[in-house]
Amino acid sequence: MAIEIKNIFKAKQQIKDKVLVTPMVLSHVLSRLKNTPVYLKLESLQPTGSFKLRGATNAVANLNTEQLHLGVVTASTGNHGLALAYAANNAGSKAVVCLSNLVPKNKVDALRNAGAILEIEGDSQDHALQKAKNLMQQQGLSLIPPFDHADVIAGQATIALEILEQLPETATVVVPLSGGGLLGGIAFVLKTIAPSINVIGVTMENGCAMHTSLINGKPTVVTEVATLADSLGGGIGLDNQYTFDLVRKYCDKTILVGEDSIKKAIKHIYQHERLVVEGAASVGVAALYEGALDEYINCGPMILLLTGQNIDMELHRSIIC
Ligand SMILES: *Cc1c(COP(=O)(O)O)cnc(C)c1O
Repeated sequence: MAIEIKNIFKAKQQIKDKVLVTPMVLSHVLSRLKNTPVYLKLESLQPTGSFKLRGATNAVANLNTEQLHLGVVTASTGNHGLALAYAANNAGSKAVVCLSNLVPKNKVDALRNAGAILEIEGDSQDHALQKAKNLMQQQGLSLIPPFDHADVIAGQATIALEILEQLPETATVVVPLSGGGLLGGIAFVLKTIAPSINVIGVTMENGCAMHTSLINGKPTVVTEVATLADSLGGGIGLDNQYTFDLVRKYCDKTILVGEDSIKKAIKHIYQHERLVVEGAASVGVAALYEGALDEYINCGPMILLLTGQNIDMELHRSIIC
């Protein structure tokens, strides 16, 4: 299935009663700092705490009665797992999340609380993914991956339609980047409808699979390293179908930020914007602070996407004080 603009509008209709139209707020501090209007789009306020609910809700909405009855499966333990569990339960279906023995207890508890049925097996993410594929084949569950899936991408891309409605004069949109479902979908919509808007991806220096893949001209495996932006970890898949091409074709630039900048950004967002966000959500603010977005500040209003708030609160406390 190809990514088409009509499917993004369809996704917007399908998810409209189930996800939040998120507020876009002017940051006075960042606007003054850069002498240009800087807005924050608060996807962190979605139920389940991240934008991933858009893609998961749209993917579930596209299932037929038989598929809904059988349920969905994924191997993602982070924001996608939470979102899929919530979306499936909301639709009267069920979500199985496959995970390894290594997944920390707080994540396991969060998934269970979101209504996920857990399959704990093996000691690696690869094991978990294999288990998910087995369940798809044996029990007919629909496998919904976290980013490389047309319906997931269409769901995330609805953010771009909202931005165009909320602030048509937007000049630059800055998007946290991991597997590229979010950036690929948003960049596709903006470059199709309003091609003059700059679309920038930001990711962490430690283990940035898409950035490395873009440089190499093909999907590339990178070593995973610990990062405060844990939701941005993981590969893009050597058999990547959609997101690599979308990001390569439609994104203007990708920027890397270091761990110290991420820490400062989480702190800034708490102290000045009064918001709790996770590391992955803070990378746009980090890039702005570092001056890495300076070439875009004269273009006009800039939007930074705050993608999620699911940070361990002990960790958050240690960062802000
Ligand atoms: C998943 C995620 C991202 C990145 O989305 P991709 O589609 O994988 O690029 C960014 N921020 C948060 C909070 C996420 O959960």
